[in-house]
Amino acid sequence: MEKICGAVRLSPESSTTARLLLPLTRNLSRQHGVVSFNRLVGVRLPHRHLTSLTALTTHCSPSPSPLVSASVATETSAIVIDGKAIAKQIRDEITEEVSKMKNAIGVTPGLAVILVGDRKDSATYVRNKKKACESVGINSFEVRLPEDCTEQEVLKFISDFNDDPSVHGILVQLPLPSHMNEQNILNAVSIEKDVDGFHPLNIGCLAMRGREPLFVPCTPKGCIELLHRYGINIKGKKAVVIGRSNIVGMPAALLLQREDATISIVHSRTKNPEEYIREADIIISAVGQPNMVRGNWIKPGAVIIDVGINPVEVSRNLWSFASYLIISLTASVATETSAIVIDGKAIAKQIRDEITEEVSKMKNAIGVTPGLAVILVGDRKDSATYVRNKKKACESVGINSFEVRLPEDCTEQEVLKFISDFNDDPSVHGILVQLPLPSHMNEQNILNAVSIEKDVDGFHPLNIGCLAMRGREPLFVPCTPKGCIELLHRYGINIKGKKAVVIGRSNIVGMPAALLLQREDATISIVHSRTKNPEEYIREADIIISAVGQPNMVRGNWIKPGAVIIDVGINPVEDTKSPRGYRLVGDVCYEEACKVASAITPVPGGVGPMTIAMLLSNTLVSAKRIHNFQ
Ligand code: NAP
Repeated sequence: MEKICGAVRLSPESSTTARLLLPLTRNLSRQHGVVSFNRLVGVRLPHRHLTSLTALTTHCSPSPSPLVSASVATETSAIVIDGKAIAKQIRDEITEEVSKMKNAIGVTPGLAVILVGDRKDSATYVRNKKKACESVGINSFEVRLPEDCTEQEVLKFISDFNDDPSVHGILVQLPLPSHMNEQNILNAVSIEKDVDGFHPLNIGCLAMRGREPLFVPCTPKGCIELLHRYGINIKGKKAVVIGRSNIVGMPAALLLQREDATISIVHSRTKNPEEYIREADIIISAVGQPNMVRGNWIKPGAVIIDVGINPVEVSRNLWSFASYLIISLTASVATETSAIVIDGKAIAKQIRDEITEEVSKMKNAIGVTPGLAVILVGDRKDSATYVRNKKKACESVGINSFEVRLPEDCTEQEVLKFISDFNDDPSVHGILVQLPLPSHMNEQNILNAVSIEKDVDGFHPLNIGCLAMRGREPLFVPCTPKGCIELLHRYGINIKGKKAVVIGRSNIVGMPAALLLQREDATISIVHSRTKNPEEYIREADIIISAVGQPNMVRGNWIKPGAVIIDVGINPVEDTKSPRGYRLVGDVCYEEACKVASAITPVPGGVGPMTIAMLLSNTLVSAKRIHNFQ
């Protein structure tokens, strides 16, 4: 196993301002096509740092025994990541780029800062940001409003800055006075000028694969920048983020996962956080609890990015290997146990019955029938079957369905025209574009065109962003992961405080499933194709949601006795005995797992029927919301 040597610390206040300036220049490059942001990112570590890191690495035994490593660790002196120096380097690069831009097109980047109230700390932050702007040649605009001003006044300034061509970034200093709705205010900042990266649309794109946020929140971006500039490899590493706040923990975890780390997110409801931390190659701590992370919680050689306001003192002589986790669970331990079979078909029927009743109530009370529009492009047989099933399901509960079938070679514009018509049609409360689309179409453009109020699939990045953020509520949650959680709820399975592993990180299942579990206070780890030894994570889990698409990948001896398994996988395997020549199996080897787990979904008949039930539920919820019907 490759080891990272040398614990690394970031002093908390080190590069805050540089982190803010980076997205601002990036924004300008987008608007004016001049500044090359990549140059900033591509700069390598100063030679002396590389040398010391390499020297430390060679001290490590390639596969250290605990004892050897412990002694290695005590001799090793951690490299201190010098955030101040890196921030200066970045500011120098920005100064050069800003000047180039002025000379080339006569444009000076501009940052507007809005400060409400008279908190001393906020005033200091704003003053520092202003000074930093001046130092690199960026214009700064400042608005100070009294503590008792109204939300409308703040919104008016934001709107003016949104329209002002000399402003390229807008920052509202947090926290706002308690009588203001932070969400309304942050959402009002134009997405193109959201240099803080806090808009849920930016967060949604950060969470989704294949999407690129316009901006990434400054502090977590700074953490990753430090790892990059110190040449620290992230891919394939075990990373733990401590804290799940909207501004640091959550986006830091998403950024690490984008770089192919396997992440676990520890928070205040996590039992025994040290168990996760001891396993990590990279730790980003954003808790604000002084000295919470102790030396003997740290794997020797781990890289530590300490974002805490109270710097954590990591004393090297406390490093110890005494608490390595020993995993010795085998299927044989629990051969006597027979798992409860989670009957998705029965639960889905129960939900459909409830929906039928609600739809009928709504018709009688206000004369409105919920309506679902489905757009199918091309003639894939599986897609046609899914659409047919959705239509049938709508009929069975009394929801109207509208179907548009377009030929494989139709244009993106034609699809967009139908979406636009459905967006405007008051009898349609949900719009679903059957995926996959033909390859000549841009899926992102098409899904983004669906009105957020009718996005019953929950795939719009704004919905995903709200799902990822604490204190935000998505209008819709993607159907399959919602169905998984619904099964856990209806079987009375407690999620809070549990260890949950999600296998797979797709936009439609894995990623939103993990976000949902975390919203319910599970401590999540997300395993994907770049995870080394996935079984190590899976063996620790109380709840496993698997969405991989690999038949029988998860074996019985990968499962902790008593774990709950939700198997989303639907995989055809050859079966000569079946009239179709194949049968469907899950990602989890059912025959083995049902002897170890306490509850398990079968395939078929588990998660599958729940997806359509959740689609019907989302359509009903949408109709109720649009017509304000309780
Ligand atoms: P997907 O987009 O192909 O994503 C698969 C995920 O699994 C990826 O994140 C991938 O990692 C990860 N993965 C692949 N091989 C792995 C391995 N050996 N170890 C660990 N992780 C691995 O698939 P999806 O759309 O999420 O669907 C997953 C499964 O669920 C499929 O069988 C699908 O048919 C089924 N499904 C069922 C329903 C339902 O209603 N029941 C709905 C949707 C999907 P990378 O990200 O690194 O590539």
